[in-house]
Amino acid sequence: MQAATYQCPICLGRKLTLRYEAGYVYSYVIDSDAPGLKNHEEFLSFLYDKREQKDTRTYIECNQCGTQYPYTFLNGVLEEHQ
Ligand SMILES: [Zn+2]
Repeated sequence: MQAATYQCPICLGRKLTLRYEAGYVYSYVIDSDAPGLKNHEEFLSFLYDKREQKDTRTYIECNQCGTQYPYTFLNGVLEEHQ
């Protein structure tokens, strides 16, 4: 069985990148010192009290023309046909 190769149907470029994009909301409780229960002397953004993940998106992007495709297109649509 031959390994699949992928090609952008728009520009025929062969370099594609898979991207996983995620958004997070970090919460810091306001207390008597720096915001965040774990922050005392100074505010450090990685010492958060709560983190909620918002939208996530997985897509394939062509390195050459920048066209974005749904991740599921790896299953057939973007395969190189000879
Ligand atoms: Zn392209």
